[in-house]
Amino acid sequence: MIDERVEWLNARLDELEHVANEARHGGVGAWHQTDPDRESGRIEDGRGRIVVFDEGSPSGWGAEHITLHDPRSVLARVEADRRILAAHLPDAHGYCPTCDDNTTLAPCATLAALLSAHRHAPEFKEEWLNV
Ligand SMILES: [Zn+2]
Repeated sequence: MIDERVEWLNARLDELEHVANEARHGGVGAWHQTDPDRESGRIEDGRGRIVVFDEGSPSGWGAEHITLHDPRSVLARVEADRRILAAHLPDAHGYCPTCDDNTTLAPCATLAALLSAHRHAPEFKEEWLNV
């Protein structure tokens, strides 16, 4: 049985992966500021294609933030989240097979922490964090 939390998280990870793959336009999705000192808002991908023009925005910090969450980074995070989810997927009785805590129904603390990273996404339910 897959509960709604797991179903929602899988859909969320699918969405993040899809958007990141589309955003990388066939490249690896590694974005960088081309000249942080003179054009701090300008971002290019690894092939030199402009991702964001420097037209007064984003700010240098905003551009740096964007590059820290480039498609390559998002795809790596999605892969890691899927591994964590697989290891902490509740069994048929609702218990985590990894955490060895038979007194607590899933989500275990690890799955709850994983879910909390997505708490600002649409249709997230705060009660999913109650462990
Ligand atoms: Zn667990």
